[in-house]
Amino acid sequence: MNFKSENLLNDILSRRDDLIDLTQKLIKIPTLNPPGNNYLKICEYLKIRMEKSGFTSKLIRAYDTPGDSDKFPRWNLVCFREGGLQGKTVHFNGHTDVVETGKGWTVDPFEGKCIDGLVYGRGACDMKGGIASSIIAVESFISLFPNYPGKIEFSFTADEETGGYGGVAYLANKGYFSPSKVNSVIIPEPLNKDRICLGHRGVWWAEIETFGRIAHGSMPFLGDSAIRHMGAVLREFEEKLYPKLQTIKTKMPVVPDGAKTSTMNINSIHGGEVEQEEDFSGYPAAVVADSCKIIIDRRFLIEESINNVKKDIKGLLDNLETSREGFKYKISDLHEVIPTMADKNSHLVSELSNSIKEIIGVQPDYVISPGTYDQKHIERIGKLKNCVAYGPGILDLAHQPDEYISVDDMLDSAKVMAISLGGLLK
Ligand SMILES: [Zn+2]
Repeated sequence: MNFKSENLLNDILSRRDDLIDLTQKLIKIPTLNPPGNNYLKICEYLKIRMEKSGFTSKLIRAYDTPGDSDKFPRWNLVCFREGGLQGKTVHFNGHTDVVETGKGWTVDPFEGKCIDGLVYGRGACDMKGGIASSIIAVESFISLFPNYPGKIEFSFTADEETGGYGGVAYLANKGYFSPSKVNSVIIPEPLNKDRICLGHRGVWWAEIETFGRIAHGSMPFLGDSAIRHMGAVLREFEEKLYPKLQTIKTKMPVVPDGAKTSTMNINSIHGGEVEQEEDFSGYPAAVVADSCKIIIDRRFLIEESINNVKKDIKGLLDNLETSREGFKYKISDLHEVIPTMADKNSHLVSELSNSIKEIIGVQPDYVISPGTYDQKHIERIGKLKNCVAYGPGILDLAHQPDEYISVDDMLDSAKVMAISLGGLLK
């Protein structure tokens, strides 16, 4: 079977109106998250669509995951279709949730208006356009090659924008991304039609608390200020940690450039007694702070181990414990994700890059995301390495007002996905 036929490309082009209509219908279902609206509605719509192409499907509610309730149930949809011949399994995953619209829109964010070849709306780019593009690619492929080798799967999942626990993480825990069942996963997130996103940096969130002793603010020498101790921590970070992070550069193709070094943000700092409400007319409490807390958000590179990342920071704190009188601290892990990067020479990446060269006519860029997305669950819980993000749309438009997706880009990406699919199933 030659899957790279002109017929396939022409068939995709003939589906232009259908592609626009599908994208608009998805945008018109406002799946805002938080709180997680209309997940069942969008899954039911997609279920009917996929069953028309011969997919069997299953609605799965992620019971008791963060945010799941009878008012806001976390519904997901998985769909399967075997072609009848021996082959591999290719899985497309898309998140159905979108973020808050915010201000500054000049069009209705849930109307899905198409103006001059661009479809506008919340989620147009991130990532209902990508979902529509992958569906059109597969529908076209099946109409030409109904008896393909292997199996095509889809999952439409909740909650990517809030961590993915009620979506991909839940399905991964149930075995839907196990390497014994699935060979390749493509997530059509908006990475631009000529780029393949191989993975992401690592994350470690932790809370650091310093301790002191409460005393009257007029006689601070009788107490011990946890805030001053935290000041010493921050000084260590400024003088020793930040300059060191600047020297740790990665070979990972992270975008943007600034994220090619290791980074750390201090997400928050709180110390001492909480200030009174605005309508309280009294004075703040005159006490020495007995506690001060910060949350650190350390993003690290594939060249670093999470143990060393933690050890570096604990080392600075331990030094303070011996060098600074009265210094006591506690550090608690909050969240961690290991960096991931799919193999550039894998079958999945080479099929996609050959198709990009053929359809778009350029050498694809390989990129790594500075933050994380659902690939983390597929790798960490599902234990599946063969996963990349590839899809239409301009990443910078995601989460912005007047978000849009170009119909031509969706068609080009659909061609790339359809051609690659043929090679991946064999
Ligand atoms: Zn997204």
